[in-house]
Amino acid sequence: MTAPEEFAERLRSISRLTDIPLPAIAEEGEPKHRLEEFLDEHGDYAQCSGCKTHIYWFQHASGKKAPYVASGENMGVNHFIDCPASARFTKIHIIDA
Ligand SMILES: [Zn+2]
Repeated sequence: MTAPEEFAERLRSISRLTDIPLPAIAEEGEPKHRLEEFLDEHGDYAQCSGCKTHIYWFQHASGKKAPYVASGENMGVNHFIDCPASARFTKIHIIDA
């Protein structure tokens, strides 16, 4: 079970990396739900063709794009890191859902 503070930290991390400000309401409410809303509002929904995990693409302030896990215990984790198909994983393997 992922601790609420972990979801809150993932949310802050994505906000920082993407320069997308957290909404004022972001300091209130359940962190997992806030993260879910942030991903849904700002990310581009897709599915990893390597493992079928549902993801959201975000563009970092650096210009690089990164996929974040859309739901579950790993929600908000960079999918480049947690993809179980990472051995054959490249950007090419991620397609739009
Ligand atoms: Zn994957």
